[in-house]
Amino acid sequence: SEPLLEIKDLCVEFGSLKNPVRVLDHVNLHLAPGEILGIVGESGCGKSMTSLAVLRLIPSPPGRITKGTISLEGKNLLDLSEEQMQDVRGNDIAMIFQEPMTALNPVFTIGQQIIETIIRHERISAKQARLKAIDLIASVYMPEPERRLDQYPHELSGGMRQRAMIAMALACHPKVLIADEPTTALDVTVQAQIFDLLSELREKFNTAIILITHNMGAVAELADRVMVMYAGRKIEEGTVDRVLLEPLHPYTQGLLDCVLQVEHDPRKFSGSKLLSEIPGVVPPLSELGRGCAFAPRCKYVMDKCRTDRPPMMGTDNRLAACWLNLETAAAQSASESLA
Ligand code: SF4
Ligand code: MG
Repeated sequence: SEPLLEIKDLCVEFGSLKNPVRVLDHVNLHLAPGEILGIVGESGCGKSMTSLAVLRLIPSPPGRITKGTISLEGKNLLDLSEEQMQDVRGNDIAMIFQEPMTALNPVFTIGQQIIETIIRHERISAKQARLKAIDLIASVYMPEPERRLDQYPHELSGGMRQRAMIAMALACHPKVLIADEPTTALDVTVQAQIFDLLSELREKFNTAIILITHNMGAVAELADRVMVMYAGRKIEEGTVDRVLLEPLHPYTQGLLDCVLQVEHDPRKFSGSKLLSEIPGVVPPLSELGRGCAFAPRCKYVMDKCRTDRPPMMGTDNRLAACWLNLETAAAQSASESLA
């Protein structure tokens, strides 16, 4: 069946035309209705850039999409006018992110903002919209929903603001909800509640969700499928179970080792610190050579890795871009074609 959202061969460049820096390098992605896809990687790996590209919100200039397509139900979003795109943003694809204060308008109450969104999408009276807003607020488990309508964003706790933003995103019944580090600023208990909420909303509305995070725990809990990004490239992809249990790419293995270390010593829990435990740093995108982007940090690096870029190898639901997996991938597809 046709994917709900499909990105093909997407390239995004920043910098001058003469010295472009490729921040997304031939990224492919597909998302089915009601599916939750996790995108993980360090900051700057391109995960947020991918979602900005989907919404066509890449700051331009200096950013530009130089190649590829982004199709929603078969329609290439890159062909739409800005006006049509605003429609898509309001109706089909909604986004929530780390800091709800930037999405919520501080001078209007929560109720005014949700009701306005509802009225923009449905021909109903203000009174009906108000009732719907109360329903929505209740559906994201904000206690005393009616009282919430009259509160301003600054009167809410961080967790409640995040719920209000989710309620607002849902007011337009999006087909795709992009959640970019939605819980990073929240404490662990509230994080868990927000994850529960997202998974329940998927069940209830069949909303497909792209969960962008550096938190492997969140992916394990929530996502069906995961893709791992590094230096603007997709480097591994598969169902959550397979990727978490048997990561193929050394970078993914490193990410998971960090998670295991955190389980032994929870004080280590903090996104950026967590990932920095893989020795070395991501090379500047402007200095990526022809080979594997992970080569400078990889303990398995071979000569070939420095000269030849590994493509995604494997079967449809299990892919990694690493020369180590060449044999594994070949063996796998051979055994699958026999089966
Ligand atoms: Fe390491 Fe080579 Fe695999 Fe890159 S291709 S991750 S350098 S083994
Ligand atoms: Mg980000």
